[in-house]
Amino acid sequence: MPTPTNCPCGSDLAYAECCQPFHDRREKAPTAQALMRSRYTSYVLGLVDYLVETTHPSARARDLATAYQQTFETIQWIDLKICSTFQGGPADKTGKVEFKASYLQGSRHSVHHEHSRFKRYKGDWHYFDGVVSDQK
Ligand SMILES: [Zn+2]
Repeated sequence: MPTPTNCPCGSDLAYAECCQPFHDRREKAPTAQALMRSRYTSYVLGLVDYLVETTHPSARARDLATAYQQTFETIQWIDLKICSTFQGGPADKTGKVEFKASYLQGSRHSVHHEHSRFKRYKGDWHYFDGVVSDQK
């Protein structure tokens, strides 16, 4: 997979200065939003290990890696918009991020609108769960 120049998470930063340090395990995401962005970019790039690792251990389904793998094969992510954040900062233990991610499934264009919850585990941010909203 070629290294993208602009980060797929839509930050306007280069991938090397945005999500890549997290994907390379050189740095930890400092906020829930940074983790959320790096997970979105993992979906785009197909980084299944990173997605599993950044899922909170108590929320890891047995077939999680397979489930992620299946989305890589069927879904082409287009872009990410962060709608709102609640807590999830360097001093917080939990956080919420609302986002809209648009994608193509076959020729059908859809938007995944989710309110995600994040929790720290051993000090690092992890995805806990999310509520998917109906799309208008
Ligand atoms: Zn990024």
